[in-house]
Amino acid sequence: MNFFCFISISAVVFLFKPTDGHSTDKQGGMLCRQCGETILTADQLKYYPSTLAIERWNKTILGQPYTNIQRFVNPQKSEFNLITAKSANIYALENAHSEATWFPSYAWRISVCPRCKQHLGWKFQPILFNHLLHSEDDTFVALIIDKLLEEKESDSLLLVPKSYKS
Ligand SMILES: [Zn+2]
Repeated sequence: MNFFCFISISAVVFLFKPTDGHSTDKQGGMLCRQCGETILTADQLKYYPSTLAIERWNKTILGQPYTNIQRFVNPQKSEFNLITAKSANIYALENAHSEATWFPSYAWRISVCPRCKQHLGWKFQPILFNHLLHSEDDTFVALIIDKLLEEKESDSLLLVPKSYKS
């Protein structure tokens, strides 16, 4: 089911992909690896360091050299490699949690792809977020890089053999 869904979405993306070279955004964005939705663009990237990261390193992402990646472990011992950004095209679930947070003084909200609902990361907002005291500028997101795909890396995946199309 998911496989054929991905193929058909990929075919649509391919059909609408500009081929005349007039695209002004050569880097494209970071896509949801499951459905191809654009989640993040380079101008949204911003580093929010945490002392609770168990490891950190740099990688070129969306043409931005030295983009910081931080590795965190949750209470269930699962590890996540995260990039941080001012904002992203994600849907944050309503409930905010302050326990076991990776960014002290910030609460987290599980965030999913707006199209396929795959879990992509977390939105962080000040604990006791209040719309009178805070704005979206006080929030940021942390995305699981393994759940994303750079658009330029996805080109080869978009060339789907006709025999695979249903
Ligand atoms: Zn998706």
